[in-house]
Amino acid sequence: MKIAVHGDYDVAIVRDGRVVDVSETIDPRWRNTRYVMNHVIEDFDTYRPRFESVDGEGVEISSVSLKAPSPWPANLIAAPLNYAAHIEEMSNSRHRGAMYVAGSPLDIGFFLKSVSSICGAGDAIELPPLEGRDFHHEAEMGVIIGRETRGASVENALESVFGYTCLMDITLRNIKDVKTSERVMRKSYETFTPMGPWVVTADEIGDVADLDIGLTVDGEQRQSANTAQLIASVPDLIEIASNVMTLYPGDVIATGTPEGVGPVVDGNEVTLSVENIGDLTMRVKTRAW
Ligand code: MN
Repeated sequence: MKIAVHGDYDVAIVRDGRVVDVSETIDPRWRNTRYVMNHVIEDFDTYRPRFESVDGEGVEISSVSLKAPSPWPANLIAAPLNYAAHIEEMSNSRHRGAMYVAGSPLDIGFFLKSVSSICGAGDAIELPPLEGRDFHHEAEMGVIIGRETRGASVENALESVFGYTCLMDITLRNIKDVKTSERVMRKSYETFTPMGPWVVTADEIGDVADLDIGLTVDGEQRQSANTAQLIASVPDLIEIASNVMTLYPGDVIATGTPEGVGPVVDGNEVTLSVENIGDLTMRVKTRAW
């Protein structure tokens, strides 16, 4: 099932490429709140049959304004440097940070982004007015957690997944010659975590360790890889994170970007495609505030 959030935190399923609103099936205590998907995901055994029973041909996707499919996770977790070729390109880059070490999957670790950085396909990536700085696209697959999870192992980790989405980890790059491992601020500007256009439930994704992922800017291919190349796999990342902290329904793990990161500027149109999920297209503009 593909589930989208749109408008005023309305919830819809995407059926035959059209948006069928299911908001009326949702508990009024949660309906039209930014927490609605946390509730839907936690109680999905209840909601899946309700959603499936909604009739109607729906409306064109282009006629609604899409939000992120998990708009308000308790935790927005991100893997750094999880593709070898991206580690290589950053090591040779003027944007090189304090340390780029590839060890075992358990050495990958993670960082946290602000939940306020999340936006959806109906928004735009808004670049803050910082003179002389570069903002880079990072094409990633996002994992959305389906159940409260603590201390998972790689063997059972996928049982905790609700679904998958396209996720961009927009990043303010370091100033030339400044070596810093700081990531949280540079990746937490508002709109710096576009997600969507929807979440695909885990039962429909196929083999999550074999999905093509690519990104174009104004139609030009910038990134192209496959999730088979992840150093820390999806189960690895869930094991790592859930042995640090409890994961909650709706939590998001950004799995890291492959090589080919590069700048985006005002006026660009960026499209991230992940196999079996779909295409997330975002406009880029200068922040108005
Ligand atoms: Mn990233």
